[in-house]
Amino acid sequence: MNLSFDAADLAFRDEVREFFRDGIPENWRLRVQAGLRLDPAELIEYQRRLHARGWAAPTWPKEYGGTGWTPTQQYIFWSEASEAGAPPQFHQGLELIGPIIFTYGNAAQKERYLPGILTCDDWWCQGYSEPGAGSDLAALRTRAVRDGDDYVVNGQKMWTSYAHVASHVFLLARTSLEEKRQQGISLILAPMDTPGFRVAKIPTMDEKYHTNELFLDDARIPTANLVGEEGKGWGYGKVLLDRERMVTASTAIFLKQTVWAVREAARARRVGTRALIDTPDFAAQLAQFEIEVIALQTMVLRLITDAAGGVDSGPRGSMVKLRWSSLYQRGMLLWLEALGPEMAHFCAEDDATLPPDMPAVMQGMLYSRVTSIYGGSSEIQHNIVARRALGL
Ligand SMILES: Cc1cc2nc3c(=O)[nH]c(=O)nc-3n(C[C@H](O)[C@H](O)[C@H](O)COP(=O)(O)OP(=O)(O)OC[C@H]3O[C@@H](n4cnc5c(N)ncnc54)[C@H](O)[C@@H]3O)c2cc1C
Repeated sequence: MNLSFDAADLAFRDEVREFFRDGIPENWRLRVQAGLRLDPAELIEYQRRLHARGWAAPTWPKEYGGTGWTPTQQYIFWSEASEAGAPPQFHQGLELIGPIIFTYGNAAQKERYLPGILTCDDWWCQGYSEPGAGSDLAALRTRAVRDGDDYVVNGQKMWTSYAHVASHVFLLARTSLEEKRQQGISLILAPMDTPGFRVAKIPTMDEKYHTNELFLDDARIPTANLVGEEGKGWGYGKVLLDRERMVTASTAIFLKQTVWAVREAARARRVGTRALIDTPDFAAQLAQFEIEVIALQTMVLRLITDAAGGVDSGPRGSMVKLRWSSLYQRGMLLWLEALGPEMAHFCAEDDATLPPDMPAVMQGMLYSRVTSIYGGSSEIQHNIVARRALGL
């Protein structure tokens, strides 16, 4: 792996740097620095700004409206976004269903759905998990029964993030009952205003509204919305789950923002006569955190290179997901420690229902707990590493 940039890469870096210097409003930066995801309306606006610049889809091929960037360019783009205090792009349309549609979808589906993902005119949510079918996704029970030109869908999805703002959902549903549980599952696209869909909020401990239950009662979805072949959804789903872990590679590049935030807070905090950052114990903890973040960035570079070369990145994606989520959670705790009593001066800005004295970083820290659950829990990632990387 060659880690040095050539002249063209450096020119590209300057171009990206200039975009992010002017392209991100200050109030976004503050929220991102607090470890919070921007609100959907802001993420849509962010996506539109990138689209206007021709950078809507850093990982997509050019023929579908992507940038066609090399792995080095992708790395530079995410690094510069991170340096500038910009957020990661929202991934469910862009990195999950978009690539599945351009890989397995038919011409009509590509034409209908890909442009809306690039511009964020369509917001997609992921209807995979169910009660009793999270880690063990093959246990899913939602049924889609053919009736003329429609599927009639019944079941319940769980933890459907942003279903309350999404215009579309991609669903896994059982279209036949084979003995092998992975068979007979199909991938189906549906608008969220389909009659028979009902969304119910799930409160989470960070008191932001992210996620939902999705009930499907006799919902009629045209069979034209089936992606690829009926019954082959499990195969597409596995590709998609691999890709979800890949997404954490780009997100991991944003961990540097936590390092800087902790450092800034520790510089500002006085402990007796000196700054917290000058106390040996805290300095050692921060140094260790930063070293591990730098090591993770190197793993990310290898992951991006693998992906570009078409190499199966399964175990490496799991390694990055594991390290990223645990480092992120540790970084958020370190940040709270660095703020000490000062954290009480932070005000939550984004949710009227939030207790007014709840600090934004505290909210970010509580949100960080989910990173070792969603996209496949840490225990499952350990299993994947054990099986696919260590051959256990
Ligand atoms: C906030 C949030 C947002 C989410 N967003 C979405 C979304 O948008 N769309 C979507 O489809 N899903 C979403 N998920 C679901 C997420 O992917 C699942 O929660 C996750 O896969 C775990 O499944 P589960 O919750 O059913 O837990 P379970 O699978 O019941 O697991 C419970 C515990 O047992 C452990 N465990 C299970 N099986 C094994 C095993 N074989 N070996 C060792 N340990 C095991 C797990 O690691 C976990 O600790 C979201 C979840 C959360 C919390």
